[in-house]
Amino acid sequence: MVPFLDLKAQYRAIKAEVDPAVIDVLESGSFVLGPAVQRFEAAFARTYELEHAIGCSSGTAALHLALLAAGIGQGDEVITTPMTFIATAITIDLVGATPVFVDIEPDTALIDANRIEAAITPRTKAIMPVHLYGQCADMDRIQQIADKHGLVVIEDAAQAHGAKIGGTFAGGIGRLACFSFYPGKNLGAYGEGGLVSTADAALAHKVRMLRDWGQDRKYHHAIKGLNYRMDGVQGAVLDVKMRYVEAWTEARRNVARLYEKALAGIPGVILPVEKPGRRHVWHVYGIRVDAARRDRIAKALNEAGIATNLHYPIPVHLQPAFAELGHGPGDFPLSERHGAEELSLPMFPEMTAAQVDEVAAALRAVTAKVAA
Ligand SMILES: *Cc1c(COP(=O)(O)O)cnc(C)c1O
Repeated sequence: MVPFLDLKAQYRAIKAEVDPAVIDVLESGSFVLGPAVQRFEAAFARTYELEHAIGCSSGTAALHLALLAAGIGQGDEVITTPMTFIATAITIDLVGATPVFVDIEPDTALIDANRIEAAITPRTKAIMPVHLYGQCADMDRIQQIADKHGLVVIEDAAQAHGAKIGGTFAGGIGRLACFSFYPGKNLGAYGEGGLVSTADAALAHKVRMLRDWGQDRKYHHAIKGLNYRMDGVQGAVLDVKMRYVEAWTEARRNVARLYEKALAGIPGVILPVEKPGRRHVWHVYGIRVDAARRDRIAKALNEAGIATNLHYPIPVHLQPAFAELGHGPGDFPLSERHGAEELSLPMFPEMTAAQVDEVAAALRAVTAKVAA
């Protein structure tokens, strides 16, 4: 049996530090924001070389806060990828803007920077690349295009804690960036959590106000904000986890290396790639197989005790929720193809070499049996 991830094993490993940190919050009464959240924000900013890190209540809240802080609203267009979790597009819609999709690079499934300029219109205000699966999008090229056209870049780094491109950590590249601490993410809270980063002091101040009803000081609401504050308990858990996150990232990278060797040469299986100059943090280890066999391979693996997932079988432009955009099959063929071929294998820091071998043996056997 190989689970998709093992949150209980991780908790057991840090229980001796997490339990007292949580009890401290309970005894302090600082249930919302407070010193534990501040400690976590400082640790996150230090570890990932970010100027300002503002904790909030979820990755979705982080995306909403970043879009609001950037002044994106009614009538604006935001360029993003259809191969993402739906939150990226929904938050763009939530501020009254329209998501404009650009298809992906077939090998990485990241937004294809070379297609972005063709999607720019007079209404385009921002580009929101997604560092899908834990690998940074082509940020040099994206930033160049943004600078040329006067656009804001907002990174969706929800899957990319610790990812790097050209020596810079995810979150430190765009004007603003958004992280998620959903439990299954590479850095996970024990509940919901998120964070906005920026190098711009004025934007950081605005995000801090926006997450707390627009207050710049008690009883005084400078702007219209919301309640997107981080819980004290989540701050305490995440602060403890910051001591381990880099080791966990290296463990993920090691699992990916083991997979690369163990899965080499299985007919009909395409392995994911790490582009030169990037540090992939392997939130998802997604192989590709023929679309006609994908679901049967997944079922056979599951029957053999190997848990799998799909990221993401229906690209956002084909989701009923976005029917109003009028897209249909064939509009973003590379995303559609990727969504039909992708199969996510177990990937978590505690995964052993024996478990990698077990997955590889099962995949080898299953793919030999499941016909096209
Ligand atoms: C998880 C995720 C989000 C949303 O984060 P939540 O904390 O679940 O609200 C946004 N974008 C991407 C790419 C994600 O993977």
